[in-house]
Amino acid sequence: MGTSGDYKTIVWFRRDLRIEDNPALSAAARDGSVLAVFIWCPKEEQQFYPGRVSRWWLKQSLIQLGHSLKTLGADLVLMKAQSTMSALIECISATGANKVVFNQLYDPVSLVRDHVIKQKLGELGVPVQTYNADLLYEPWEVYNDEGYAFTTFDAYWDTCLKMQKDPIMRLPPRKLVQARGSVEDCTIEELGLEDDSEKSSNALLGRAWTPGWIHAEKALTNFIENHLLDYANDRQKVTDSSTSILSPYIHFGEISIRKVYHSVIMKQILWAKQPNHPGETSVTCFLKSIGLREYSRYICFNFPFTHEKSLLSNLKYFPWEGNQSHFKSWRQGRTGYPLVDAGMRELWATGWLHNKIRVITASFLVKCLLLPWQWGMKYFWDTLLDADLECDILGWQYISGSLPDGHELHRLDSPEVQGFKFDPKGEYVRQWLPELSRVPTEWIHHPWNAPLSVLQAAGVELGLNYPKPIIDIEIARDRLTSAILQMKEKESASKQDNGEGTNEVVVDNCGPENPPIPKVFLRKEKKPCPSSSSNDQKVPSMHKDVTVPNNNNYNNDRKRSKGLELEEGQEPDEYNLHDCKTGSGYLETDDDLCSTAVSSSASKKLKQAAGTSNFGSSSFPIKENC
Ligand SMILES: Cc1cc2nc3c(=O)[nH]c(=O)nc-3n(C[C@H](O)[C@H](O)[C@H](O)COP(=O)(O)OP(=O)(O)OC[C@H]3O[C@@H](n4cnc5c(N)ncnc54)[C@H](O)[C@@H]3O)c2cc1C
Repeated sequence: MGTSGDYKTIVWFRRDLRIEDNPALSAAARDGSVLAVFIWCPKEEQQFYPGRVSRWWLKQSLIQLGHSLKTLGADLVLMKAQSTMSALIECISATGANKVVFNQLYDPVSLVRDHVIKQKLGELGVPVQTYNADLLYEPWEVYNDEGYAFTTFDAYWDTCLKMQKDPIMRLPPRKLVQARGSVEDCTIEELGLEDDSEKSSNALLGRAWTPGWIHAEKALTNFIENHLLDYANDRQKVTDSSTSILSPYIHFGEISIRKVYHSVIMKQILWAKQPNHPGETSVTCFLKSIGLREYSRYICFNFPFTHEKSLLSNLKYFPWEGNQSHFKSWRQGRTGYPLVDAGMRELWATGWLHNKIRVITASFLVKCLLLPWQWGMKYFWDTLLDADLECDILGWQYISGSLPDGHELHRLDSPEVQGFKFDPKGEYVRQWLPELSRVPTEWIHHPWNAPLSVLQAAGVELGLNYPKPIIDIEIARDRLTSAILQMKEKESASKQDNGEGTNEVVVDNCGPENPPIPKVFLRKEKKPCPSSSSNDQKVPSMHKDVTVPNNNNYNNDRKRSKGLELEEGQEPDEYNLHDCKTGSGYLETDDDLCSTAVSSSASKKLKQAAGTSNFGSSSFPIKENC
């Protein structure tokens, strides 16, 4: 084992595209020379291949990160690969690196991939160390008194705040020493994040957005100095820049969440001394938003099926309509409901939406059109700049009655009423629907009720230059009520068939188009990873007999178990999506797993593994049209 300063470390960048408070980078810089690498492996992204705008953002951020690393003394190596594992192994072989470090991710796809990589590299004699760069609180640190995972946000967040744990920030490295060795890298263009055909259209995004960690710092300062004070009130307004608009930066890890937290806490201390009560309320409110993001990771980690199935099992029997033409009208902003349409047009034009508009457009899809929430989630995923699997999942589950503390399934807010509430002057609608720009405010959110003379004067011909409502709101309400009734009847019939049905697995019925839904858990590690420490990434598992409560009235003690391990003696079964084995079973590990050089047998294994590794073949299928 080398002493500190002798290591050659591969720093694998993913969604931590920053220098400051980057624990993996700092640790590697402290220990010796580094090879900083970003690996783009579209095959492994599968149905969660990032959308066009999200890839555009990533490209700009990588360019900036590359410049910053260069000024510190190291290159950012870009690799396009068929498998992340083989790319990492190539880096290890080329440099003789004796360690790999990266910052943890918590979405279900990364959890599986990272676990397999860590396991395999460990077996090949290359220790892996992972760090928390994305969260204030690790998902495995917060459980209730009985050791169960929380399923309501308030209880979760109260517990976090009471933990009295001050998240610690790390200073950026002053300089980096480049690890020697040549790796077959590629240029940012060769990475293929942006098609040639997309470039001119994408360039327009640059007028509104400036990706990269330097701009993230500026956006944070601007928000703290100019908008935080009024955040509690202003965040209801959908027209002004009333919120921080930090989400894409936070998603790509261009700003440390700990830095955001510290900056806000500094203001809280100041305003508490003054005292400034509105300021204090705004801080609490903003911290709650940050808490929601933490909670999104928490839910995905503890309930790793939630990207496809609702947390509550009630939606299993929901009779989704699956009407493709309604789905198309929603996507194109042609539902005839101005607030919904304005939102969908803004989303397409800018890649971003205010939270309220996300809630309104998403609720319309699920409750008025009875389309499966997973379809909407996937569309948001494809079109948002800040597309973030965990936040997207939480948002869609929240609006579709899938969370115990989210919107109730029967709650259907009229877009017309919400229009007058959140866009009282109709400015938002006029901005995104120029065809309605001359409709008087009185009618802007329900043009179908306007007298013909008013519509004529405004140049609106309903059904021609602006659609009539796709569905009458009262009919939608009746349809939703009868769908819920059907769902309940089917649910109780099924319970009678199964005794009390307590062992039901949570499945959402998206109609005949719904793909089979896999049940996810990760296999317990047979041998401890040589590098594992208490700070390291934990992996979730799902107990076979654990049920998720099927109504909104259950108690905390019925929540899913913490379940970080399989029960003793439990074998992998049909629940197992990803096995940590290679085809031939577990690889033998070297005696000295932590040796400073890659031993010859380890290097042989490296080569073998580079040729055989493939863990991207099975995972979380969602149909293309979802
Ligand atoms: C249906 C739906 C889908 C969503 N999909 C995404 C998504 O793909 N990516 C994403 O980042 N957010 C998503 N959200 C959450 C939220 O709408 C955005 O985070 C927020 O609008 C971003 O704007 P902001 O940065 O100005 O937020 P601010 O209000 O300034 O909040 C600061 C930060 O807190 C976090 N945050 C705020 N609200 C939420 C929330 N409700 N859930 C989780 N985190 C939150 C975000 O990181 C945000 O940047 C979704 C919400 C809904 C209802």
